[in-house]
Amino acid sequence: MLVLDDIHKVYGKGKEKKVEALKGINLRVEKGEIFGVVGYSGAGKSTLIRCVNLLERPTSGKVLINGVDLLALSPKELRNQRKKIGMIFQQFNLLQSKTIFQNVAMPLVLEHRPKEEIKAKVTELLSFVGLEDRMNHYPEQLSGGQKQRVGIARALATDPDILLCDEATSALDPNTTEAVLDLLRKVRDELGITILMITHEMNVIRDVCDKVAVLDGGKIVEQGPVIDIFTEP
Ligand code: ADP
Ligand code: ADP
Repeated sequence: MLVLDDIHKVYGKGKEKKVEALKGINLRVEKGEIFGVVGYSGAGKSTLIRCVNLLERPTSGKVLINGVDLLALSPKELRNQRKKIGMIFQQFNLLQSKTIFQNVAMPLVLEHRPKEEIKAKVTELLSFVGLEDRMNHYPEQLSGGQKQRVGIARALATDPDILLCDEATSALDPNTTEAVLDLLRKVRDELGITILMITHEMNVIRDVCDKVAVLDGGKIVEQGPVIDIFTEP
């Protein structure tokens, strides 16, 4: 489903100081799996997730989604392929001047989908995340957990195969975190979406992930089922 094949990423061009942020990453995430990548600050987690959604181009290696090599695509094919990847963020990244409805509608508006289709889809998504009664509110009127649920609804608007979560619960308190993780389980179970999350929160990985990779200094130092990695011998 999602395969990272020997990904290297070096920052710094020409005479700039070079930083090798990723040093040969190999990962395989199966369809419908929740896969966690955990590591300390500076381990390379953000670089890794940015290489999957191609906000950052790996220096070498392959990113394969359902067997399609993203780095070999034309710009047009890549735009289409990126719709298959949804993303949510630590700070939610909602537009403050737009309503909840407009925020969730944004990816569809950008694709010039018909108004009626957008309305139906956004209503369905807001109902899925339990916020249909908030569609005319603005982000500042919502709690952190509600904002992240809006973020999840927006990420699902283009019917992605994969949902990337970048420290998605790190700004939330424990109870709210639990509610967001429940929603992510529902995304996996009911929609069959594959989830890749990066976090420094071990409890989140333990709680929700099927498999985990431990990233340190740009390398994966351990990888496997959460039960094996986090169970004391
Ligand atoms: P994490 O998300 O785990 O904190 P990052 O992927 O942000 O790790 O960073 C990994 C390494 O790459 C760090 O040494 C960081 O300083 C470096 N790095 C990240 N982004 C850049 C960049 N745009 N330019 C230069 N170095 C960077
Ligand atoms: P930047 O702010 O660094 O220019 P981009 O232009 O790449 O970032 O992205 C703008 C916004 O689009 C991001 O802040 C984020 O909300 C959203 N976004 C980026 N990548 C994705 C993705 N793969 N899926 C969904 N939304 C994305």
